[in-house]
Amino acid sequence: MSEYRIETKCVQSGYKPENGEPRTLPIYQSTTYKYDNTDEVGELFDLKKSGHMYTRISNPTVAEVEKKIADLEGGTGALLTSSGMSAILVAVLNITSAGQNIISMTSVYGGTVNLFSVTLKRLGIEVRYVNDSMSDEEVEALFDENTRLFYGETLANPGLDVFDIEKYAEIAHRHGVPLIVDNTFPTPINCRPFEWGADIVVHSTTKYMDGHATVIGGCIVDGGKFDWTNGKYPELTEPDESYHGVKYVSHFGNGLAYINKAQCQLIRDFGMPLTPMSAFILNLGLESLHLRVERHCSNALKVAQFLSEQEKVESVSYPGLESDPRHSLAEKYMPKGTSGVISFSIKGGRDAAVRFMDSLKLAAIVVHVADARTSVLNPAGTTHRQLTDEQLAAAGIPAGLIRLSVGIENVDDIIDDIKQALQNA
Ligand SMILES: *Cc1c(COP(=O)(O)O)cnc(C)c1O
Repeated sequence: MSEYRIETKCVQSGYKPENGEPRTLPIYQSTTYKYDNTDEVGELFDLKKSGHMYTRISNPTVAEVEKKIADLEGGTGALLTSSGMSAILVAVLNITSAGQNIISMTSVYGGTVNLFSVTLKRLGIEVRYVNDSMSDEEVEALFDENTRLFYGETLANPGLDVFDIEKYAEIAHRHGVPLIVDNTFPTPINCRPFEWGADIVVHSTTKYMDGHATVIGGCIVDGGKFDWTNGKYPELTEPDESYHGVKYVSHFGNGLAYINKAQCQLIRDFGMPLTPMSAFILNLGLESLHLRVERHCSNALKVAQFLSEQEKVESVSYPGLESDPRHSLAEKYMPKGTSGVISFSIKGGRDAAVRFMDSLKLAAIVVHVADARTSVLNPAGTTHRQLTDEQLAAAGIPAGLIRLSVGIENVDDIIDDIKQALQNA
């Protein structure tokens, strides 16, 4: 880990060329690696030697970007995966098997809810849900001897709830399980989960980290501090039969056991690596992450303030606004800002929302958030289209709700576009 400040790490961490080597990260577009003798390859397979064998498991381009993200989060190691969803799947399955359970906040990404409630259930893993209105006693009552981890999202997509990391880390640790958080929306620029007690961080790098809507990717980062030798995690302390009996904690040390197991065992078996080309593109995004996140946040705050003053706007949800109920939690965990994403609803329900969105000229309607270009989505008309207005209200998604992902264009152009579209709504 370098001692530089985070802005410098965005630009400089990871790939460090030696004398005469290429200045920028080379793309090692190769599935395989050449060795001079059979014994050496055998040692790689026994994990007695480190080195690349096959790009399904590791690749030099990918490894350099993993180093950069580990450094940005302040973790001991990182693992890039083919998508945010595969990062979450591997992060959970690395320490959870059929017959066991995990505890998760309810306000997490919709794709994560599908994975947890439907697919993990089919694999025999039970998910127990927690929300902020529950007392500590009610939350603690959900833990039992088969509970493996606690899961939350630092800034929930799309509800924008701010996760009380310190509080839930304490509860998880009291029950001997790690806290895993999804830090996609704030990114390590705005939120430092390991400093508040989180043990593992996951990312959809598809969002701000790439930042240009070009490559799907995910990442798992190991904070290195959780004690896997507390007796609950034999998969990390006892021999792995699929690796000639390697014991991950004794072999890699407690601080690197989790991330190495995820790579050597699960990425190998499930085959979900990030490709070298995608890692190269992601690295370009990371080089300007600090600049973009700062501009996304300052633009979004101005847009949220503008929206909250408009007569045609019913409500605005943005934790950066002082009037937002999550403002004080946001100040604690995300002092530099939250993200560029705002939810708001306009008077007139679904029809008015559709007229507003169809009138936008600069902002585009896309099923994506968190890239450089301003975009909008009406959950009631798209991702939650099958629900009636009553069901939408029960789910906390008014028919007129608009999710606005504020880009890094000139903020006055964004506001002018919203102004003219509101007139047409
Ligand atoms: C998009 C998203 C994911 C899923 O990531 P993909 O890269 O689309 O697989 C997970 N968590 C959050 C918070 C997201 O916004």
